Amino acid sequence: MAGMLYLVPTPIGNLGDISARCRNTLAEADFIAAEDTRVTLKLLNHMELHKPLVSYYEHNKSFKGNQIVDRILAGETCALVSDAGSPAISDPGEDLVRQCAEAGITVCAIPGPCAAITALSISGLPTGRFTFEGFLSTAKKSRNSHLESLKAETRTMIFYEAPHKLLSTLTDMVSVFGPERRISLCRELTKLHEEVIRLTLAQAVEKYTETAPKGEFVLIIEGAAVAEIAPAFTLEDAVNRAQELMAQGLSRKDAAKQAAQETKLPKNAIYDGTL
Ligand code: SAM
Repeated sequence: MAGMLYLVPTPIGNLGDISARCRNTLAEADFIAAEDTRVTLKLLNHMELHKPLVSYYEHNKSFKGNQIVDRILAGETCALVSDAGSPAISDPGEDLVRQCAEAGITVCAIPGPCAAITALSISGLPTGRFTFEGFLSTAKKSRNSHLESLKAETRTMIFYEAPHKLLSTLTDMVSVFGPERRISLCRELTKLHEEVIRLTLAQAVEKYTETAPKGEFVLIIEGAAVAEIAPAFTLEDAVNRAQELMAQGLSRKDAAKQAAQETKLPKNAIYDGTL
């Protein structure tokens, strides 16, 4: 009979956050697949557990994934852990879950620590609807297009960010979301220096320009207000503007084009309206 894959969340700072169920699952698994075996060994030592470990991380996951699946199919039970928090959430695991599901292996996710949800819940921003955006790319082009795609997002947004990239991310966010957008910077969650810093984006840029950020951060950004994304101009305004431009000598086509650029309304609708 095939074994199983367990996804076991581990503390994001406070070792007391490991649950009894997580501990038992680690104790009973035949082997543990870990993102960094040295990090997991420390946790296992803390719990006085001695288990066989295999490494499973971003750069070995394609061939290690096959080996893990074969072992589970042969009857072993595997517990997957990442360095901290929930496996498969901006951490290795997504591919292994897919491979196991395709092989007909039962996957069981144990609920537990996750920086994104911990931060959202104490952000003070609306939690009813939210989107998880993970890390922004380091490549300028894809990072900009990621942020641009969220310009009109009305749900609360969750981002992970490394401290050395925080200031440039906040600066990019100001240009896309505007200086007044609210942000909760959730820092060092569950650790000694845990804090939630609730500011506007402009204030956050100012703060971290003066003092370099330290520690781990989750950024919770308020969604766009509906009024912010509603068109500022009506079609009638745009048609009037096009007619004004035509009166100044522009062709109907050029006038519709310019009015469309100024009002962000569709050129064809403006063109038709000028008849
Ligand atoms: N899978 C993990 C989870 O469920 O929380 C996330 C792993 S991701 C590689 C690491 C990022 O999570 C960090 O860069 C930071 O943005 C966030 N993070 C992890 N621990 C944190 C903590 N204690 N306080 C604030 N953010 C944390």
